[in-house]
Amino acid sequence: MGLATADEYRGSLRDGRTLWYQGRRIPDILAEPDLRVAVDHAALDYAVGHDPRYRDLAVAKDPASGAEFSAFYAIPRCSDDLLCRSRLIETVTGLGGTMVTLVKEIGSDALFGLLRVLEGEQRERVFAFYEHCRDGDLSVAVAQTDVKGDRSLPPHAQADPDLYVHVVEERSDGIVVRGAKCHTSIAANAHEIVVLPTRAMGADDADYAVAFAVPVDTPGLSLYVSAYGAREHDAFEFPISSKHKMLETLTVFDDVFVPWERVFLCREPELAGPVALAFVEFHRFTAVSYKLPLLDALVGTASLITEMNGVSTAGHIREKLTQLVVYAETVRALTEMAAIRAEVGQHGIASPDPLTTNLAKYTFATRYHAALELVQDCAGGLLVTGPGGADWANPEVRTVLEKFYAAKAPAEDRLRLLNTISDLTTRDLGGYHAVLAVHAEGSIEAEKMQIFRAYEPGRAVAYARQLAGLDDHI
Ligand SMILES: Cc1cc2nc3c(=O)[nH]c(=O)nc-3n(C[C@H](O)[C@H](O)[C@H](O)COP(=O)(O)OP(=O)(O)OC[C@H]3O[C@@H](n4cnc5c(N)ncnc54)[C@H](O)[C@@H]3O)c2cc1C
Repeated sequence: MGLATADEYRGSLRDGRTLWYQGRRIPDILAEPDLRVAVDHAALDYAVGHDPRYRDLAVAKDPASGAEFSAFYAIPRCSDDLLCRSRLIETVTGLGGTMVTLVKEIGSDALFGLLRVLEGEQRERVFAFYEHCRDGDLSVAVAQTDVKGDRSLPPHAQADPDLYVHVVEERSDGIVVRGAKCHTSIAANAHEIVVLPTRAMGADDADYAVAFAVPVDTPGLSLYVSAYGAREHDAFEFPISSKHKMLETLTVFDDVFVPWERVFLCREPELAGPVALAFVEFHRFTAVSYKLPLLDALVGTASLITEMNGVSTAGHIREKLTQLVVYAETVRALTEMAAIRAEVGQHGIASPDPLTTNLAKYTFATRYHAALELVQDCAGGLLVTGPGGADWANPEVRTVLEKFYAAKAPAEDRLRLLNTISDLTTRDLGGYHAVLAVHAEGSIEAEKMQIFRAYEPGRAVAYARQLAGLDDHI
């Protein structure tokens, strides 16, 4: 077991992986400035394990051997373990300027889900892979979302059979897979990719019911990195996104060989749904945990800018700040409650309560855009009409800016805060956060479906029967 350092993590990404970015093959992710930002951001997951301020939260100990390992890989056994995991995710995302790091979070979510739902030899393979990741302190992406083609059709009925990842050959030593996944976060800067089915499947979709893990440099695997945030960002103008970024990829499997010991599910459609859901139950809890710094940022920046603009005591501003607090603290309370209501299930693994987790995620996603409106309303139009970093750097222009953009606070403080709000809510990162809010970890309809499924109506129905006197006459 071990705790890799941030530099060891960076160095380990120099392998033969096939990366494409902006139409070019990228031989070295560390040498490409747009991509390097994301690597340095992700390295926070490693840095916290060596920082005395966070070691208590970020480092776990094997009770038998006493060996230390990253707490991201600590299997939750009770509510307190889930609360600690949530705090760790919130803390690292806070250090990451509201952007989740994800390189250990998402992979461990998938492994906990698989360990909870699989049995026998399949579970043994997952456990061996889990030990490999924990002991090697690896970063692991999860490719669940297929490109999906025509959404009204199941995988086997698509015009092109490769629109969902599927098994094309079973051999004595393993399987061969083909197809593509998309939106795969952190795959470009991970060591391993866990592949999971994206939905429940019927017998006709058996070839598509497949789950496995491969190293990112596996032959036949190609990653096409999204162009989002593709330029050098000035630190004055983009205080957050100049330092923090996550990469998504189109993840193409062109006849990739996977040895049996890395295959967790093969042509078992009845397990596709449970496996997909088991991951999602952990991952939505991770999601709401990593949303918390963003929510604090919305409340905090809105509150500060109203003071700097001299409007903090106005009645309508207090009302808007109150709405933001209601939103942020509701999500926080539901996140904690999801851990408190945890269920310890198969193999002694505690999973967050699905009803409360989905309530938290649904609340976050459906009220996010309204919250942006409140923050932007409080901040004023300078969010999009203010000066850039080059203006601020020129002493002649700066003198003018300092004179005319001063309000209740000096111009510099006000402009730095406005640029932070702008970065968060109006520019590339703002748009990214807004789409992330709605779609990542499943779209809003998926959350509603889970809320309906997880809700146990017995108590409410019994009470309705009692009120209506339905049982009195039996
Ligand atoms: C920033 C970001 C990061 C992500 N990271 C990951 C990751 O690391 N790994 C991963 O596997 N996935 C990841 N995702 C994918 C995420 O889970 C999906 O975006 C989400 O599940 C929605 O899928 P989609 O984007 O294909 O949209 P679509 O499925 O096309 O959804 C668009 C709309 O169509 C509706 N819809 C879709 N299908 C149907 C249907 N059959 N009937 C009726 N309505 C339908 C949806 O409800 C939605 O309203 C990420 C997404 C984002 C935005």
